[in-house]
Amino acid sequence: MQLNTNFAKLQTSYLFRDVAQKTAAFRVENPFADIISLGIGDVTRPLPPAVIAALRSAADDMSDARTFQGYPPAFGYDFLLEAIREKDFHSRGVELDADEIFVNDGAKSDTANIGDLFGTDNIVAVCDPVYPVYVDANVMFGRGGELIGNHWTHFVYLTGTPENGFLPNPPTEHADIVCLCFPNNPTGASIDRTGLARFVGWANEHNSIILYDAAYEAYITDDKPHSIYEIPGAKTCAIEFRSFSKTAGFTGVRCGYTVVPKALVRGGQSLNAMWARRQSTKFNGVSYVTQKAATAVYSPEGAAQCRETIAYYLNNARVIFDGLTSAGLACWGAKNSPYVWFRAPSGMTSWELFDTMLRQAQVVGTPGSGFGPAGEGFFRLTAFNTAEKTIEAITRLKSLF
Ligand code: PLP
Repeated sequence: MQLNTNFAKLQTSYLFRDVAQKTAAFRVENPFADIISLGIGDVTRPLPPAVIAALRSAADDMSDARTFQGYPPAFGYDFLLEAIREKDFHSRGVELDADEIFVNDGAKSDTANIGDLFGTDNIVAVCDPVYPVYVDANVMFGRGGELIGNHWTHFVYLTGTPENGFLPNPPTEHADIVCLCFPNNPTGASIDRTGLARFVGWANEHNSIILYDAAYEAYITDDKPHSIYEIPGAKTCAIEFRSFSKTAGFTGVRCGYTVVPKALVRGGQSLNAMWARRQSTKFNGVSYVTQKAATAVYSPEGAAQCRETIAYYLNNARVIFDGLTSAGLACWGAKNSPYVWFRAPSGMTSWELFDTMLRQAQVVGTPGSGFGPAGEGFFRLTAFNTAEKTIEAITRLKSLF
């Protein structure tokens, strides 16, 4: 019996588990402490009323033999695929066929599962700091090599720094796959057309593939690309992941989609056909009720309600950014993103700052070092708590710093 030995290479501790354990230990020592978490990556506002109405009506459909639905179509119901094509792409000048879109149970699964399409020996480039799923999933597939210090030997790191505004350039060394996420978790950086076109040009030139995570595109308020396919040439080099989680509060409902263009071909093989084959074997579709709920996000009322919630979170992000900036801290993000990324004061490490904030202000955040080597000395706060708690947390942090 042989197990997948790559799992043993993964670090035993997972960032959010460590944060939860430290917070729980503090709570045991200080049972009356009023702890506020700006560490959460989960939404807190309820689902939009239009989505709730669609969920109820879809539940009614399931209760009647004439409208009952069994297994869903493997890649999504036409009603949702059409809404996605029209509202997320056609309206932005991007034409996609319905069979280039694969509805799923959220972006996390596919950003990891997409690795099924690629050989183990491919070189993967990741931004640093990075959403940990891209790294851990590729390590599980055997593409990480060995962990030396806090670097995986087979990965190419695209380092984000204050100097480059956490917007690294395309790799200068060989990479077959590049994982990008904009607006970025954790740094909140958003990329413009020129920056993204540089990656698309690089990928086409080197026959590489970009895995583009656009889970936060709904937070873009500037004139920046929502989809990588807004960049000419992207259909021959990019796969895009979208999610209803942060757009419409679906973290508990679970729905997203992946776009694999038919023009994306490597070694004579269509990645669209490969992904269709993979999904029909390993995935059985997303429930009718969930897809009806997701379709309601595109109705005029649903879209307006989602915009209102996003504006609420963006306002929280602004409160965090302005508060910390006025306390003299160097901050990034917030503008097109629910994340604020800041440099720990006075040369503290990320975890030292975590402990200080927890003990002295009872505010929980996420240490930047958990997102990769270049995150050391930085810290992430999120805009997903209530407006009241966000203001209270920032008031406390301003007196701490
Ligand atoms: N991609 C990024 C960058 C994320 O931050 C998250 C969730 O926090 C996801 C994907 C996962 O989203 P989903 O809820 O759709 O699985």
